[in-house]
Amino acid sequence: MSLPTYAIQFRGHPACPCQVEWLPAFEAEAQRRGFITGPLPIAQLIGGAVTSGGTHATGGAADFWPHGDVAQVVWLARQMGADATWHRWFNWDGHNGSEHIHSVLTGCIHNGAARYQIDKVRAGLNGLANDHKDDGPRPLSGRTWKQGIEWAEEQDMASEETINAIAAEVVRQLTDGKPDNSDLTRDQLWKQTQGAADEARDLLRAQQ
Ligand SMILES: [Zn+2]
Ligand SMILES: [Zn+2]
Repeated sequence: MSLPTYAIQFRGHPACPCQVEWLPAFEAEAQRRGFITGPLPIAQLIGGAVTSGGTHATGGAADFWPHGDVAQVVWLARQMGADATWHRWFNWDGHNGSEHIHSVLTGCIHNGAARYQIDKVRAGLNGLANDHKDDGPRPLSGRTWKQGIEWAEEQDMASEETINAIAAEVVRQLTDGKPDNSDLTRDQLWKQTQGAADEARDLLRAQQ
């Protein structure tokens, strides 16, 4: 097959410009959340794998090898603007097809060959010719890939704010608990700190 003129090499795979922007943001967020360690194992971006039914021909569609917490990676891809993301199990095609994650970016102008799969997932289907039920995490985000990157940045900021709030709370309780010349014992001080930690955990839970 011939590559589209807009194809850019990304880590040895031809990719569309949206993928070049989205993949590093997606990878970083997956790493930050501990869903994967190290780089995202890319199997195919723009490509002509016959088994993929042509969906990878023009861009926006990616295949990843299973790595880390696959269910969470699928969830995150959907949250970050690729609702049409599925865990394809071994033999997904009935021809011993390899296990992988297949993912299509919403709002990518190059995804013409795979766009029907976005309609399929919205219709509650798996995006394969057999039209089985969608087995991925719901609800769908409805985000475009650009909105997905913004969403991830906000998530990142929210956790930053949480950490700052925890630090402030620990400092406040320590200061409250041990004013100058106080004769609080180490034990009492420890209890105060534990109290702050408990509050911090509540804060975290409230944000999740
Ligand atoms: Zn694109
Ligand atoms: Zn694929």
